[in-house]
Amino acid sequence: MRLSRFHLATVKEVPADAEIASHRLMLRTGMIRKLAAGIYTWSPLGLRVLSKVENVVREEMNRAGALEVLMPSIQPKELWEETGRWEKFGGQLLKIRDRKDAEYCYGPTHEEVVTDFARQELRSYKQLPVNFYQIQTKFRDEIRPRFGVMRAREFLMKDAYSFHLTADCLAREYQNMYDAYGRIFTRLGLRFRAVQADTGAIGGNASHEFQVLADSGEDAIAFSTGSDYAANVEMAEAVAPATPRPAPGAALERVATPTQKTIEEVSAFLGVAPAQCVKTILVRGVDGLVALCVRGDHEVNEVKAAKLAELPGELVLADEAAIVAATGTRPGFIGPASLPDAIPVIVDRSAAVLADFVCGGNQDGTHYRGANWERDARVTRIADLRKVVEGDASPDGHGTLRIARGIEVGHVFQLGDTYAKALNATVLDDAGKACVMQMGCYGIGVSRIVAAAIEQNHDDAGIVWPEPMAPWRVAICPINAAQNTQVREAAEALYAELSALGIEVLLDDRGLRPGPMFADIELIGIPHRIVVSERGLAAGTFEYRRRNESENRSLDRDELLRQFA
Ligand code: ATP
Ligand code: MG
Repeated sequence: MRLSRFHLATVKEVPADAEIASHRLMLRTGMIRKLAAGIYTWSPLGLRVLSKVENVVREEMNRAGALEVLMPSIQPKELWEETGRWEKFGGQLLKIRDRKDAEYCYGPTHEEVVTDFARQELRSYKQLPVNFYQIQTKFRDEIRPRFGVMRAREFLMKDAYSFHLTADCLAREYQNMYDAYGRIFTRLGLRFRAVQADTGAIGGNASHEFQVLADSGEDAIAFSTGSDYAANVEMAEAVAPATPRPAPGAALERVATPTQKTIEEVSAFLGVAPAQCVKTILVRGVDGLVALCVRGDHEVNEVKAAKLAELPGELVLADEAAIVAATGTRPGFIGPASLPDAIPVIVDRSAAVLADFVCGGNQDGTHYRGANWERDARVTRIADLRKVVEGDASPDGHGTLRIARGIEVGHVFQLGDTYAKALNATVLDDAGKACVMQMGCYGIGVSRIVAAAIEQNHDDAGIVWPEPMAPWRVAICPINAAQNTQVREAAEALYAELSALGIEVLLDDRGLRPGPMFADIELIGIPHRIVVSERGLAAGTFEYRRRNESENRSLDRDELLRQFA
């Protein structure tokens, strides 16, 4: 491509409302332009990158045996009512009406449409397994669209859906997709982790998210230093400490803590480490209040707590009036010792091995010191209640956990028969009996990958594309070409030669001075830059520099070509 014939529209100014590097750089390079909140146009430059990602995704999906389809974005309300999601999906679902007043939504995902397709197309187990995928625009009316295409309202997704006669077959395809995702993100040159994700009611190993590691990521992930264990922080198991609970050593003693309510205040006031305190929160249970106890330096994990049988499927803190009515004490002074019998006490594994601890006194303005489980405080049951922290033992027994931030770029999920049942999608098995199909779904945020890659690969001068995503691999920058025929001809010859080799090359024939020319080429992140100058030609060399290296090298033609082999 000759840059004089391309639409490159870089800007120097740093956009004021862009909070993260990828958003700033996508605007400065002109890859995207905003049309409305969370809705963007991809410029020719941006689209070159987006298409590269799309192609890698398509190649690997095809290689894995999935079959490409293209489903409509506009989907009828009636279909969504069959699964109950017309109401349940909530505010992210953009609902629209046609001229006859019929209602539709703009597809945020395609389980309904693909299952409707499958129930018409698939009749016999002999047609299974099958995996349909598409690469298509989705719309989700996100509450807070932000960070450009990272969390957009309109975005490009690859979504795949597989159909099976048995759960075993589904598990095999799940592994096949998991492996294909690994190949996709590896080919794209991204540093990523596959992490166990929350599956709500389904449980087990039925869902993984693929997370690109970046400090700006919205998700926290826990991974082991000693194995490939990785999970969402919400999901990661906090294992029981290896050492048993010591025997009580101190007597129970009530102490005055007139204004000290938080763990920080109480531990500072009494001179006791937070890890030697028990933090108690009262939450709404299925039947009355429930007490959840964690160590003072730990935090209750809402996702884990919501799954406790004693809770109504979500974690709702009890309000002050309910707490006072049940305990006669105000929040801040509640503890497990001498708590009314009607309140179950669920204790986190780490809190359960404490002895002689500090906790609320169940009397305004007091705490207990020297409290001990069983002797002073009831334990209804011990459970995994807390968020893991750095340094916790890895649940698989190998190494310790670290916490990192990630950007979710892919998600694989064993759905089971939820959608097929709701839409009555069945096939006949070999005995001629109708069976509801098993389903898996597999998403990749194609447009989000572009932003995630920039988060991981940039410096002060701009984007540093991993080669497979770069808009062009090589840029040729002639110095003073207008005044120097030799330079112009050498640049043209090199451009022709590299193009003939099938290398994507950009010739900067705009006639800019070296400073602004190099600034643009660096900003847009071209992996290899070749400078053609009078001085170099006199010495028989080109000045070559990789975007991810800091020094220039003078290379002759053969050495230069070897860089792209
Ligand atoms: P998130 O937790 O980030 O909201 P999600 O769990 O809702 O994502 P899925 O329904 O699993 O997302 O969609 C598949 C993929 O689509 C995600 O892994 C993500 O990469 C991408 N994606 C989801 N929402 C957006 C969005 N608003 N903008 C860009 N990409 C998105
Ligand atoms: Mg997800």
